[in-house]
Formats: sequence, C-alpha cells, structure tokens
Amino acid sequence: MVDNRCKGCRDDYVVDSKQIERVLASPMFRSDRCVSDSEYLTRLDACMSCPKLQGGTTCLVCGCIVQITAKLKEKRCPYPGEDRWSIEAVS
Ligand code: SF4
Repeated sequence: MVDNRCKGCRDDYVVDSKQIERVLASPMFRSDRCVSDSEYLTRLDACMSCPKLQGGTTCLVCGCIVQITAKLKEKRCPYPGEDRWSIEAVS
C-alpha cells in the first residue's frame, strides 16, 4: 500500500528525546548564541500550552523542534500575530 503522508509525518521521522539531547549537547548550544536557562524554560512553557505544538516537539507554524529552536537568541516564536515567547504573552 502506498503511504501518501508527507515524509515528516511518518513514524520513522519522529524525533525522540535522545535525538534532541544529542543536538543540544553540541558546542553551539553552550555558546553566547543561546538564551539563559530561565528564558529557555519560559519559551518552552509557552510552547507546551500552544495549540500549534504537535507531539510535544514540533511547531506546526514553522516546522521547528521547539526544544532546539527555543535555545537560540535570534529565534522568535512564529505564532501569527503574537510572539508567545515574550514575557508579556506568557505571564
Ligand atoms: S507557535 Fe510559538 S509557542 Fe507555539 S509551538 Fe510554535 S514556537 Fe512554540
């Protein structure tokens, strides 16, 4: 039978926590390109209550893995019309 789902939705493309941890262990994620731990947790809290989060990892707006993207200072939440990572949006 033909699998017509997009590649990213297939089970063999599901990202697990070990893969995320492996990426986050790279030197880039210990540099000044990253936000503080508290800002990281604030961003992830916003994602965990967001209707655009799928499977606890994937942002349906931009397709990113939020546990990775939220680490980077230059990244912004792409929620339409509202940056859910901003302090005002979360509090
Ligand atoms: S829209 Fe923003 S808050 Fe929602 S999952 Fe994507 S990055 Fe996270």
